[in-house]
Amino acid sequence: MGFQTLRGTTDLLPDELTRWSKVEHTVRRLARLYGYREIRTPLIEEASLFLRSVGETTDIVQKEMFRFADRGGQEIVLRPEGTASVVRAYVEHSLDKTEGFAKLFYLGAMFRAERPQAGRYRQFHQYGVEAIGSSSPWTDVEVIALCVHILRECGVTDISVWVASMGCRKDQARSAEELRQQLEPHKSTLCQECRARLERNVFRVLDCKQPDCHAIAWKNMKLFSLCDECAVHFDDVRRGLKENGIAFDDTQSFARGLDYYTGTVFEVRAKGLGAQDAVAAGGRYNHLVEELGGPAVGAVGFAAGIERVLMAAGHQGTKTPTTSRRGAYIAVTNAALIGHGFQFVQQLRQRGVCATMDYEAKSLKSQFREADKAQAQFVAILGEAEVKQRAVTLKDLEKGNQEAIPFDSFVDTLVQRTGSSSCH
Ligand code: ATP
Ligand code: MG
Repeated sequence: MGFQTLRGTTDLLPDELTRWSKVEHTVRRLARLYGYREIRTPLIEEASLFLRSVGETTDIVQKEMFRFADRGGQEIVLRPEGTASVVRAYVEHSLDKTEGFAKLFYLGAMFRAERPQAGRYRQFHQYGVEAIGSSSPWTDVEVIALCVHILRECGVTDISVWVASMGCRKDQARSAEELRQQLEPHKSTLCQECRARLERNVFRVLDCKQPDCHAIAWKNMKLFSLCDECAVHFDDVRRGLKENGIAFDDTQSFARGLDYYTGTVFEVRAKGLGAQDAVAAGGRYNHLVEELGGPAVGAVGFAAGIERVLMAAGHQGTKTPTTSRRGAYIAVTNAALIGHGFQFVQQLRQRGVCATMDYEAKSLKSQFREADKAQAQFVAILGEAEVKQRAVTLKDLEKGNQEAIPFDSFVDTLVQRTGSSSCH
């Protein structure tokens, strides 16, 4: 038997990648539109980066990290999420000095050792943004607006946006105590893990995947109680969202499964995805930069799962974009003409016209079949008759007409007819 992909990982084949590229392109275009610049960090990081930031008691760190010691004994992790790495890079390269307010975005693979199921993989892909260096509520509004804008342009329109404020660290300590007291009477109904969470990190009960725990936690959790400053900040965020036509629900309090959040948290759920319905999530993390050795500045960001965005877009009836015909296919009638044909192909490519041909001297019929498969707009036939007349026979597959084009003007003609951007 041949080899297969590991559980929870997938090959993305060319047909599938048409949709992926569209999402990636939309992310880059819109993130830049909002003033964010791309950053790429390594897939591997020191394990302690995530212990310190995501938090020792979180599911990600306790159960989901691919962790190994390298040959020198250093603890390495395949990154499970993007924020910690971006903040590490911000601090390591003192981006506060060069960028000031650093608005960054990323796209890339993340790794979590989870039980694979629909919408949950071991290697999955996220795009995300981090706005580092501001505590203004307008940054929260901007980040949520960008998140929703990207989803909409990717065809995910049927969504609900949940916003809450977890408050500052002091507020969280108070809310944690309240939640602990409320859950205590239900302790026996909680799963074993949540009983331990009650003592160590009670907010984790809020994102337990066991239906019983989930129901009890959500029923008992009142909205986080906020100090004046956090309440004003959250009011401003909600006002900003309203003023800009972004619908949201603020009736539930929820915690995100990472320790670094303070203040605003949000989650976007898409209709039609079943249990794995969270497409994007994020929030404010006002202490992380300082905790990782940087200046004391506020920050806010989000991450979205590309697999889930594509699933949601599919469920919500967004059509796969049909690629239009482009460029040229050179068909030759015998093996001796392959070299001549190849020169044309190269000349076209040098001028930016998408061009290809077959190198096996197959029948003209099968070359036409391949041209069709390659979505070529033109087929240029190069046979003995054409060589004698020093003109190719050019067929337009869209219009269905055919004409002779002299060798000398062939490349120019195609450049003109396809426009220079014939390859997308
Ligand atoms: P969930 O509650 O579904 O486990 P999460 O809270 O762990 O999600 P985050 O860590 O906030 O998710 O990551 C942001 C987004 O990344 C999620 O909303 C989701 O779209 C995507 N995501 C997270 N884990 C996976 C995974 N294992 N496979 C595919 N996508 C994922
Ligand atoms: Mg998770």
